[in-house]
Amino acid sequence: MSITLYNTMTRSKDPLTPRDAPRVSLYTCGPTVYNYAHIGNLRTYVFEDILRRALLYRGYEVNHVMNVTDVGHLVSDADEGEDKMALGAEREGKTVWEIAQFYWDAFRKDLERLNIIEPTVWCRATDHIDDQIKQVRILEEKGFTYTIDDGVYFDTSKLSDYGKLARLDISGLRAGARIEVTEGKRNYTDFALWKLSPPDSRRLMEWESPWGMGFPGWHLECSTMAMRYLGEHLDIHCGGIDHIAVHHTNEIAQAESALGHEWTKCWMHGEFLTMAKSDDSDGGKMSKSTGEFLTMDVLIDKYDYDPIAYRYFLLGAHYRQQLAFSWEGMDGAASALARLKRTVLEARAGYTGSEQPISVCMDEFDAAVVDDLNMPRALAAMWKAAKTPNASPGEIYATILHMDRILGLGVKEMAPADADTSDAEIDALVEARTTARAAKDYARGDEIRDQLAEMGVEIMDSPEGTTWRRI
Ligand code: AMP
Ligand code: ZN
Repeated sequence: MSITLYNTMTRSKDPLTPRDAPRVSLYTCGPTVYNYAHIGNLRTYVFEDILRRALLYRGYEVNHVMNVTDVGHLVSDADEGEDKMALGAEREGKTVWEIAQFYWDAFRKDLERLNIIEPTVWCRATDHIDDQIKQVRILEEKGFTYTIDDGVYFDTSKLSDYGKLARLDISGLRAGARIEVTEGKRNYTDFALWKLSPPDSRRLMEWESPWGMGFPGWHLECSTMAMRYLGEHLDIHCGGIDHIAVHHTNEIAQAESALGHEWTKCWMHGEFLTMAKSDDSDGGKMSKSTGEFLTMDVLIDKYDYDPIAYRYFLLGAHYRQQLAFSWEGMDGAASALARLKRTVLEARAGYTGSEQPISVCMDEFDAAVVDDLNMPRALAAMWKAAKTPNASPGEIYATILHMDRILGLGVKEMAPADADTSDAEIDALVEARTTARAAKDYARGDEIRDQLAEMGVEIMDSPEGTTWRRI
């Protein structure tokens, strides 16, 4: 059974056929390190981690490269606006280099807390300026560029298949493009390869180049570093869906024009995490500038969640489905995780080390994994294993432990103290009981009280309200 993955380029689930099996080359677009990653960004990195783990589980050797965008790119995809790194530096009174180091460290801490396996190679854009300049020179020599006052641009009209990933309607775009944002740009879809610094001012980050002082375009770093570390052919390239139309489209244009052949075989994109409408004034779009900026620190420190509860929450939806973030969903995930921990501890107590995983559950699990990483079905197979009537505790533990190679919920490390339910989960249940009782649904209220008792929590009603304590 080979693993099938949805390829945005072909719009179909294709069996993976690595060029140099069992080695798989994987490039995932990394963070721009001018602020913390928000939990939406982290959804994409969890999806990529599931992919990486699934490939390892299937016996592949994965060479995984991730970039760190530390060049001060501009806030809009259209090469316009303010410099993100400079904004961060100004906001915090630090140098751009300090900002980059701080947020890269913070990002790695987030990965660790979410049990995300680190890439095999990290590469920083600022460490590869020369490589990027070389790429622009190659494109220039091959006639794909033109230079205007503002910098060196890629001429997208030179490619007959520009926009193939997004299936862009180029003629429609060209006809509709009345306003040219940058003077001298020849086509609406042309993009900067090298931006020149304004003649009369200095930027915080700028480098010498054959075209003058300036900095590389954002799309350039990924195709350049991917080729540098993974060669001329790439098996899988990933990112969030927002990268399809511009960033990945432009990476393809640069790489394939420089190479003269197809570059990446399989393009995979994770759908967005959105904020539930009721919590957000921005039409459900998750962003760093509106509403509460949700990071792992906020989930952990302010709302008292176990970071793995967020990973569990994400596994509940397929990576190609949009997922709405909600506190109810997080409470549900925290509570399921606490249940899993209790199951694991109980089952582990009867584990001798020689039991084998339950084959019917493993078959279902494997079938879900190879079917484009279907984690909701994989989780269902795990719960089926936990509840298999004739299985011994040791077999149950062996099964869940095996599945955790992909799920990454940290089954092996689960310790008795972790089996305690978080305060946030208990508060949510107590509140649900109060609501049920206010609606005169006493049966539901009693059910929740019993559930809390099972979790070792006693509740006390008084005229001032309801309180709880662990027993
Ligand atoms: P950025 O730092 O903006 O380049 O984003 C880092 C990664 O997160 C990219 O792969 C984006 O496609 C992805 N991303 C951005 N916003 C979201 C979101 N709301 N949900 C899921 N992924 C996202
Ligand atoms: Zn990229």
